[in-house]
Amino acid sequence: MAIQQSEHCLGEETILQDIVVPRCSGKTIRVERGQVFRVIAHEGKQVVDLTFLNADNYKEHFAAEHSAVLNSLQGIGGYYRLTKLYSKPPFENPMATVVDDLVGRGDRGGVRAGHFMMCHCSKRLLEHLGFPGARTCSDNFSDAFREIGLRQEDTYDETIFNVWMNSWIGDDGGMCSEPPLVETGDHIDFLAEMNLMAVISVCPDETSPCNDFKAKSLRFQVLERG
Ligand SMILES: [Zn+2]
Repeated sequence: MAIQQSEHCLGEETILQDIVVPRCSGKTIRVERGQVFRVIAHEGKQVVDLTFLNADNYKEHFAAEHSAVLNSLQGIGGYYRLTKLYSKPPFENPMATVVDDLVGRGDRGGVRAGHFMMCHCSKRLLEHLGFPGARTCSDNFSDAFREIGLRQEDTYDETIFNVWMNSWIGDDGGMCSEPPLVETGDHIDFLAEMNLMAVISVCPDETSPCNDFKAKSLRFQVLERG
């Protein structure tokens, strides 16, 4: 695994972790309350399937669709963009706030925000796409959860912030996808509202437009400001 780690300063911003997660793999990264978790599309159009756990209570898990509804009711997002990431009931606590989102605010165009609150790809999903046996985000999450002593079957991992996944629900109720709007070097920032464990799958799919038909690596940073 070509994981790079370093610690250096950028003005008032201190980079505490700087990690490249290889294509088609999963990883966990701890982020303390008040720190910023940054995802960087350093090789271009690539989706990260992202979820969060409360680092002090792994039973408190991010809930993507639930957050979409709560953001919609507040006028701050929905299924294609979130401002506040909430944990699942019975917790329903703000876990993170999106504080910088160039794609989500429309700088790269598109009629939607360019993310998707939905499930991740899995063995059964790839079977229906005609690629049985292909590696999936489910495999990546299984590896990532193992890093922190969890088994995938004991988690609530199917509710995902699909960062830069340019998919939507069509008029017939089916799912539609186009290549991500993100460009090389773009990023999205999450401010941790509690101690978090970010659980990451660098989506391995090369059968659909979701990663523009080529899986790539992604870069992640943990930043401290001021
Ligand atoms: Zn995937």
